[in-house]
Amino acid sequence: MSGSLLVDNIGELVTNGAGEGPLGIRRDAAVLVEAGRVVWVGPSAYAPAADHHVDAGGAAVLPGFVDSHAHLVFAGDRAPEFAARMAGQPYTGGGIRTTVGATRAATDEELRATVRRLRGEALRQGTTTMEIKSGYGLTVADEARSLRIAAETSTETTFLGAHVVPAEYADRPDDYVGLVCGPMLAAAAPYAKWIDVFCERGAFDVDHARAILACGQAAGLGVRLHANQLGPGPGVQLGVELDAASVDHCTHLSDADVAALADTAHSDGSGTRTVATLLPGAEFSTRSPYPDARRLLDVGVTVALATDCNPGSSYTSSMPFCVALAVREMRMTPAEAVWAATAGGARALRRDDIGVLTPGARADLVVLDAPSHLHLAYRPGVPLIRQVIRNGVPQ
Ligand SMILES: [Zn+2]
Repeated sequence: MSGSLLVDNIGELVTNGAGEGPLGIRRDAAVLVEAGRVVWVGPSAYAPAADHHVDAGGAAVLPGFVDSHAHLVFAGDRAPEFAARMAGQPYTGGGIRTTVGATRAATDEELRATVRRLRGEALRQGTTTMEIKSGYGLTVADEARSLRIAAETSTETTFLGAHVVPAEYADRPDDYVGLVCGPMLAAAAPYAKWIDVFCERGAFDVDHARAILACGQAAGLGVRLHANQLGPGPGVQLGVELDAASVDHCTHLSDADVAALADTAHSDGSGTRTVATLLPGAEFSTRSPYPDARRLLDVGVTVALATDCNPGSSYTSSMPFCVALAVREMRMTPAEAVWAATAGGARALRRDDIGVLTPGARADLVVLDAPSHLHLAYRPGVPLIRQVIRNGVPQ
């Protein structure tokens, strides 16, 4: 679309910048967009003229959701495993190997179709930025093609060759770590921005995780990791040690883990350098206790919310669902949850051009079928996304 776009008659505009309350709310507002960027925010009554026009009709407008944790490159589904869990079996993470087998057997076109389907599904639910991980290939060729396909859809791509040790390396994990740090990283790095490790009992221990993440850093990738999901462990503190942008899950934290995260606070009071990304869809789908968001928020740790969309432990692409869970089950206020799903996700990706609606930001906007952001938690399960504008283009 060429020319400028004006979104006006916005009843409640969430800017995550200057304005009322933690969400920087402006009333009766308008946003002017040019060349994919927000160029003006102000009172609707004083809005400048534009080539194109969207009338929000008094509804709420928010920054597009930033889903900073998703596993979209896979084949098959694990609905029977979900049913077994709901019938009482515990979640161990072992089902990942089921998806690895299906993914290796799939064609590029099948994997691409799944990524596009899920990315489209998320977009219709207001997600304008979505991180995508590899991690179901676990061979040099399959990890490289997973990331090549992910990179067709997102610039936020993450090499997760260290998701689990594949069955063929089960009795020689050191050799697998060598493969990940050597030829697999070399093949994956051209398509990846980040490196991630599943640092958990049954996956990768702290020494292996540190070695893999350090190799990724040396190859120019940023660090993020799966930490403290299934039990207490060293993952969160390893993330802080390596200046991870985000430690994800954070379900089982010690006081020392929380303190380590709080100690990464920026001196200007703008939150922590390492973000705690909470993934309540995983606890929902594994019927596990939710992370203690309040314990993190109350000491100033920056919190993000993401879907963890994957076929095993959290097969949802819905950020509004995660917002509702965070409010109902994790005692986040609606404002905290909406911030975490937008600006928080941006921080977890070390981005300042998304998750906000201020001049200069990317023009990623969501028009709700509701007068206020409160409705995202107040009306769970209801399709409240009326319109998505991504990069200045109505979708
Ligand atoms: Zn994950």
